[in-house]
Amino acid sequence: ALTFLQEGIIQPSTSFPCSHGFIYGGLRVGCHGHGSPLPLIPAIATSCNAYFCWGLYRMFGDKKYGSPQNALTVWKDHMVSQGFGYKLGTDLPGEKRGFIPNAGVYDKAYRGSWNGLTVISISIGQGEVLSTPLQMANLAATIANRGYFVTPHIVKDVQDAELDSTYRERRYTS
Ligand SMILES: [Zn+2]
Repeated sequence: ALTFLQEGIIQPSTSFPCSHGFIYGGLRVGCHGHGSPLPLIPAIATSCNAYFCWGLYRMFGDKKYGSPQNALTVWKDHMVSQGFGYKLGTDLPGEKRGFIPNAGVYDKAYRGSWNGLTVISISIGQGEVLSTPLQMANLAATIANRGYFVTPHIVKDVQDAELDSTYRERRYTS
């Protein structure tokens, strides 16, 4: 939703339909029963899969990007800016990076022929997307901070030593 808003693909008042899911031709991504159509905030409140599928469909079909590959690159860069796809750099050992697909992943899988419908599952964090619980918690912190996060860390201070500046800097999202 933040990516769609930032890119001007939707406004908070933009409504999308949901008839127990996103249905397009033979493609169906299921959803539960709720009112329809819904604007953004009720769509978030009801966790409507169809809303985010429509958003991605609209973004990837937007001519301003020139191609689904370019749209995916813009989408991916926003995800990475929000702390996904790479290790956040926490001081806890064993951190995983998760995964945010780039255009090359789909060019290889579909021989260069794919569009927003092909990758629709990424709009709801499924498909090829992998995220860690730490990244999800960090996103919640970023929203609470209104757009930035500080690299998550456990160590608050060490006697006679200054806390690593990495854990004091604000990392602003796009
Ligand atoms: Zn729905």
